Amino acid sequence: MQFKDPMGTDRPGFRTRMLWQYVLPAALLLWGFTSPLQADITLTQLANAGILVSDGETRIIIDGMVVEPYAVYGGLPSDVIPMFEQLSGPFADIDLVLVSHRHHEHNQPRYACRFLQQSLVTRFVSSPQVNGLMREKCRTFMTSSPRVQEINPPYGEPHIIELPGARVTVFPLSHGARKYAGIQNFGQLVEMGGMTVLHIGDAAMNPEDFARAGLDQIKIDVVVASFRFFQPGPGSEIMTRFFSNSGKVAMHIPPGEMDEVRAYMSEQFPRVIILKDTLDQAAFGLTPQPAGK
Ligand SMILES: [Zn+2]
Repeated sequence: MQFKDPMGTDRPGFRTRMLWQYVLPAALLLWGFTSPLQADITLTQLANAGILVSDGETRIIIDGMVVEPYAVYGGLPSDVIPMFEQLSGPFADIDLVLVSHRHHEHNQPRYACRFLQQSLVTRFVSSPQVNGLMREKCRTFMTSSPRVQEINPPYGEPHIIELPGARVTVFPLSHGARKYAGIQNFGQLVEMGGMTVLHIGDAAMNPEDFARAGLDQIKIDVVVASFRFFQPGPGSEIMTRFFSNSGKVAMHIPPGEMDEVRAYMSEQFPRVIILKDTLDQAAFGLTPQPAGK
């Protein structure tokens, strides 16, 4: 057990309660924002691998400081960019921004700097590599703001971030070998509303590394992973071995491959959720709730 009791021990029966989930089309979003969903946790798709995790109170963005398309990966649609710029909609009242690693389809320093400097409250926690690129764009802020933190947890010693309504466990997960060996990549486990959501960043499809990170020791209610983990091979073996009882969200899907990926997934993995468009939401709860309006 490498995690320092990330789940807590004060919830007997937690493991046996039913995980329940549904997906909301973007059309319901206005309602969703004005009247918090009757669910324990909502995931909102941002750009590429970016998500907002919220229980209606605490709001955490992971890999969501992405605005422009990068390589084959998408940015924010034009009607959502003003929300990013004005810290409204999914970008309002963000308590914490986390970034898995420095690649530009996961974090765009210029936009991240602008976002954080506009906010009065948002904390930012990431690796020396990510923060290093951020310092190139907003050095004074990055080096002087008490809301910025740089962490570099080794295997076996995850970093814990405590918020009033959530706890986040950040730990290393390899991005890969050779040209990727030097990339610092974090897994980020959000515990909120009695549930756990794991975002694995751009983790390599290496089962030994997932075991080294202790992911066979803990209960994950929802895992957020690249769609490549559902292709035949080591990725889908990892999904089976480590996340057989977890809800699953596939992302990091190039817009140009979206139709093909969705067709494949609906055939092979019909229960895996794909949030096709920015602002699409999936809600996960411990007990069934009425679907609402
Ligand atoms: Zn990457």
